[in-house]
Amino acid sequence: MTDQQRTSPIYVTQPLLPPLEEFMPYLQKIWDSKQLTNNGPYHQELERELAIYLGVEHISLFANATLALVIALQALRVTGEVITTPYSFVASSHALDWNGIKPVFVDIDPVSLNLDPKQIEAAITPQTTGILPVHVYGVPCAVDEIERIADTYGLKVIYDAAHTFGMRMSGGHSVLEYGDMSILSFHATKVFNTFEGGAIICRDAKTKHRIDYLKNFGFADETTVIGPGINGKMNEVQAAFGLLQLKYIDDALERRKQVDVRYRQILKDVRGIRMHAIPDDIRYNHAYFPIFIEDDFPISRDELYRRMRECGVYARRYFYPLISEFPVYRGLSSSATVHLPVATDISHRVLCLPMYPDLDVETQDVVVECLWRALREGGQ
Ligand SMILES: *Cc1c(COP(=O)(O)O)cnc(C)c1O
Repeated sequence: MTDQQRTSPIYVTQPLLPPLEEFMPYLQKIWDSKQLTNNGPYHQELERELAIYLGVEHISLFANATLALVIALQALRVTGEVITTPYSFVASSHALDWNGIKPVFVDIDPVSLNLDPKQIEAAITPQTTGILPVHVYGVPCAVDEIERIADTYGLKVIYDAAHTFGMRMSGGHSVLEYGDMSILSFHATKVFNTFEGGAIICRDAKTKHRIDYLKNFGFADETTVIGPGINGKMNEVQAAFGLLQLKYIDDALERRKQVDVRYRQILKDVRGIRMHAIPDDIRYNHAYFPIFIEDDFPISRDELYRRMRECGVYARRYFYPLISEFPVYRGLSSSATVHLPVATDISHRVLCLPMYPDLDVETQDVVVECLWRALREGGQ
């Protein structure tokens, strides 16, 4: 390790960037064709390749996942109230708010950290039209239970699958097959990135067409506008980068796994640190490495977070505060944190350690050494 590496900050993530020279031929082609966006050849190719890789049929690419979430709700004509999780990135609820839908926050399961199906059922009112669950950290929701509830009450299900890229359920099928739609994020910080980007996975070609119109101002053809569309298109540079990134994704998933395995070996006997239990029947994507600080750890989560920053390790409190605690959502009657004991407790314990494919053993040692130092200094 060079001195430069030793002194530079270690962030919670680092984007997967294939060698720049391998990207140049893609750029040359774009320059030659002069087609920069609007469903160009790379866009079409990436939709085809991703459908194969992810094991799904219908996928629409987007400029980012937040726009994709907004359009998914529009395409399904969801209105009124939607039941969602407070334990997620704030965009999950913002997409509801942008559609004039009221998010109804219910508590999470203490093990999966995803929406607790029992709480979903208890929160259904005549205004409820949908459920927006999140597969937090890439761990699948209770998809069968959620499907049963949605079928019983006639609700739409839109999964925020921003964390699930490359994850496979037992038997090898995709978690993206569940619900009416699933939304992926290809933001720089995610497992698979197109700098910024996202996608909607839907069930049939007709719905995909509708989504494709909506993301292109509502244009069905040169002179027909079918609705109040928006501009949510992914451009050719992003799509080309996605195609290159796909060549490296399996290797990246494998390297993430090695980082995960090593963290677990090192931390397994540390009193007061609990690690996330990953179901052993899935192929996990190791999107994040959250730890949970228990009461018998010598210092609080926030103290650990602060001390790690002092030694240059920027671990992150994903997800704290809860979405329901942000001023925009605090006023909702369902937001009172008293009804969300599990999510509230977890949000005060969680700390996500650096996790990315290029995290080498030396850098991981710096992270762990920093954690040991905070631990040794205890309550001083
Ligand atoms: C990153 C993320 C989003 C937003 O994705 P963008 O592509 O940045 O818009 C939405 N939901 C969750 C759970 C996320 O982690």
